[in-house]
Amino acid sequence: MSTRDLHQMGVAELAGALRERKVSAVEAAQHQLGRIKQHQDLGAFVALDEDFALSQARAADAQIAAGTGRALAGVPIAHKDIFVTADLPTTAGSRILAGYRSPFDATVVRKLAEAGTVTLGKLSCDEFAMGSSNENVAVPAIGFDHAVPVRNPWDRDRIPGGSSGGSAVAVAARLVPAATGTDTGGSIRQPASFCGVTGIKPTYGRASRYGMVAFASSLDQAGPFARSAEDCALMLSALCGPDPERDSTSLDRPAEDFSRTLGDSLEGLRIGVPREFLGDGVAPGVRAAIDAALAEYEKLGAQRVEVTLPRTELSIPVYYIIAAAESSSNLSRFDGVKFGHRAKNYRDLADMYAKTREEGFGDEVKRRIMIGTYVLSHGYYDAYYLQAQKVRRMIADDFRQAFAHCDLIAGPAAPTVAWKLGEHGGDPVADYLADIFTLPGSLAGLPGMSVPAGFDAGMPVGLQLIGNYFSEAKLLNAAHRFQQATDWHQRAPQGY
Ligand code: GLN
Repeated sequence: MSTRDLHQMGVAELAGALRERKVSAVEAAQHQLGRIKQHQDLGAFVALDEDFALSQARAADAQIAAGTGRALAGVPIAHKDIFVTADLPTTAGSRILAGYRSPFDATVVRKLAEAGTVTLGKLSCDEFAMGSSNENVAVPAIGFDHAVPVRNPWDRDRIPGGSSGGSAVAVAARLVPAATGTDTGGSIRQPASFCGVTGIKPTYGRASRYGMVAFASSLDQAGPFARSAEDCALMLSALCGPDPERDSTSLDRPAEDFSRTLGDSLEGLRIGVPREFLGDGVAPGVRAAIDAALAEYEKLGAQRVEVTLPRTELSIPVYYIIAAAESSSNLSRFDGVKFGHRAKNYRDLADMYAKTREEGFGDEVKRRIMIGTYVLSHGYYDAYYLQAQKVRRMIADDFRQAFAHCDLIAGPAAPTVAWKLGEHGGDPVADYLADIFTLPGSLAGLPGMSVPAGFDAGMPVGLQLIGNYFSEAKLLNAAHRFQQATDWHQRAPQGY
């Protein structure tokens, strides 16, 4: 078999070709490594290790030859640089972790390796996963000697979304068939939407957070990016599962095969469209694409019902209080003692802490630490943090009521398509507001995904599907049926 178009294969197809030995894992890894270097100007990769990649690929080939290859044996992937890896550096996009090497692999990384995947490298992200555009990255991409924003392959002058921008771009540009990401307030769904790929964030607790550099622990959740729902299901099945000894919030539920219901009929499925998700703030072209997608679902036998999530707008202040509060606590561990960067010149211990953090953290990270420290401080705790927690509960309650009337919720993943690099001009609030449709599901801990559903002025639009707790298989099937009826997910950006 010619390896020329290998990068057009998705996870399922490539895993099949590897199993049937039409292509070897070494060939697949070499081909993708070549593409990664060819397109390194996108800024998607921050670490690449060819020797390590090829040694894993050789091991996968040996297992396949011996008949002991696992489900994803030989499939090349890459990880968001927020997952710690023993064999590759981990920076979380931050100068403060420059030079850091983890002594262990994150559980998600380990589980995917056990499923046979070959890790090619690490992917750019916003610093500590704080951002919506992947412009908040402070470490160089491969081929650069300075930090660069990741570029969207559909229009290189546009952002890819964030914080898992490198992951979405790597899949959209066919640098890897699948990648990992994390979603705290939308960082899988929004970049998937902006780059025209499929991404799913499972129910909070499905995937272990062990070895994921912590941002907001009550929200952080890992998930895959791939081109199709079918491929996401394979990746998600491999990376989820309980991890009781290492993450006490990982759920005590056995690992599942999320592919098991792929192909089931959607006849009678009630799709709830929250009226707040298609209001005036949504770009007309995005709304048109979402309406067309919903019409496609009706053709597939589903029924569109209107629901309401009345506290949608409140999810922005609530999220940016809770996430900041948790991050201010989580990031206190970066003090120049245990990890990464330490300031060179300091007077005493307190000065060392201060200078290390001043030099090591970027502006957005500092802003969140300050907001978080403020809302947790004595005298403001009740007014901000506690109040936000109460509203968070009400937001979760709104979903509970909505799910009394529907099986899935659908709407746009974001109000617009990807904006231009620099367009928000360093105005953090402009970024925060754009998270409006992903934050409610995150605060409720619900599973959600983004599915390519058309274009607005040449840029991809993502349909967001939100399910009830533990409904990942149902979500993936709904996306799969849509992808059998449409070809949005197969479109590639020009030149890739
Ligand atoms: N854009 C949101 C933020 O900046 C979400 C980020 C995420 O999900 N990691 O916090």
